[in-house]
Amino acid sequence: MKNHERTNHIKQPSLSPAPLLTEKRIAIIGAGPGGLTLARLLQMRGADVTVYERERSPHVRIQGSSLDLHPESGRKALQVAGLEEAFWRVARPEGETHTILDKNGVIQLRIPQIKVLSSKPEIDRGDLRDLLVNSLQLGTILWDHHFLALAATADDRYKLTFEGREPALADLIIGADGVHSKVRPSVTPIKPVYSGVTLIQMEVANPKVQCPQIFQWVNKGNLFVLGDQKGILGQQKGDGNLVVYATAEHPEDWVATSGIDFTSPEEVKAYLKGAFADWNPVFLRLFEVTQDFAARPLYGTPIDQHWETQHHLTLLGDAAHVMPPFAGVGVNMAMQDALELAECLTNGQYTTIQQALEHYEQMMLTRTALAQKKTMDQEEMFHAPDALEQLLKKLLGPWTPLRHLIPPAIAAFNGLTGWMKPAHYV
Ligand SMILES: Cc1cc2nc3c(=O)[nH]c(=O)nc-3n(C[C@H](O)[C@H](O)[C@H](O)COP(=O)(O)OP(=O)(O)OC[C@H]3O[C@@H](n4cnc5c(N)ncnc54)[C@H](O)[C@@H]3O)c2cc1C
Repeated sequence: MKNHERTNHIKQPSLSPAPLLTEKRIAIIGAGPGGLTLARLLQMRGADVTVYERERSPHVRIQGSSLDLHPESGRKALQVAGLEEAFWRVARPEGETHTILDKNGVIQLRIPQIKVLSSKPEIDRGDLRDLLVNSLQLGTILWDHHFLALAATADDRYKLTFEGREPALADLIIGADGVHSKVRPSVTPIKPVYSGVTLIQMEVANPKVQCPQIFQWVNKGNLFVLGDQKGILGQQKGDGNLVVYATAEHPEDWVATSGIDFTSPEEVKAYLKGAFADWNPVFLRLFEVTQDFAARPLYGTPIDQHWETQHHLTLLGDAAHVMPPFAGVGVNMAMQDALELAECLTNGQYTTIQQALEHYEQMMLTRTALAQKKTMDQEEMFHAPDALEQLLKKLLGPWTPLRHLIPPAIAAFNGLTGWMKPAHYV
């Protein structure tokens, strides 16, 4: 199914293609935030783009946490894509609140949203996808196209093959197909490495009734509960449901070897209740009222990864540099990749596509190495024996003993500045 069933279509500018892309067919594999952002940015500059996505339709429900978009990366890409105004219609700045607890349920730090300074609003994954899908020309996305392999042709192009579909030809391929990318092996033999952590992801419906204490702690934003080298991380989505992750270190094959049947909610509940047995009972209640569980081993690419740029073939987003979510930057990096790649291909500074790709990959690998390092440091901190102390020290430094003054101070500041419109609102 193509993207013609959508509503709220966003107007397309029409331009003649940038010189490097004239008469070039561009294939983007994967309609995640990275691939869709790139498609939008290239189409705005007149390029001939097709996105191949394995999901059957745009209506497949996307699971998982909401995403906070940062001003210098994710939001910048949306701004250049002309989608900032549409973004603010679905964004949730109130999702910026943070509450940090210990395992006994004692609040250690609350950081309410500073309304006038709101800079990292949350957006649900499905809303972000709809926004980007609706910004593309009709027929840009070919749904239900599971990419299998690519091969160079004699006339300097690529032939793409799909499961149960006709093959396609393209002059330039971008692999935006996520952590288990099937494009990546054609670019580099370097594989993502298991991070040491497996999350158990849960979605809790009607949390206001089902687990009111947790709902109150999450307070429309983010909850971090750390202790015993484990964590419970919670987030509210736009529909009011909570997405919760139980995080802990496990061997890479733990999902297969633990003896837990992760398709059985009862077995996963039993495991979680045992693993968190001496935590505040509200957490045990949380596991009890959850029905949707999924185990997610987390992977990261090596910080020093490097490869020779391939002929008219590159990667972006998780396919290029997957990282665990502990620094909350994966989607922002994917969208910034899209922005930088579109810029390199269309800004007229390079005489060949190859030069443009080389420059993009250099920038992308340098930038994401820093993000990867930050992610690894955060992951280590979250699972350290003194995780809570480390987190408070990192956030507040010497001001930690005064942390209980933060909520009233922010409330007073919000009161004083309540008449002001946050600067970023359009
Ligand atoms: C549990 C968890 C929580 C996270 N939380 C955050 C967070 O709070 N903040 C943040 O910034 N990041 C977070 N991330 C990371 C973030 O989700 C990713 O970095 C981001 O989605 C990457 O976007 P992408 O477009 O590169 O890839 P993806 O979002 O993975 O999209 C890839 C697309 O390619 C498609 N695809 C895959 N294989 C094929 C194929 N063979 N053929 C055709 N299509 C294919 C997929 O169906 C998908 O649509 C989290 C990740 C996880 C696992």
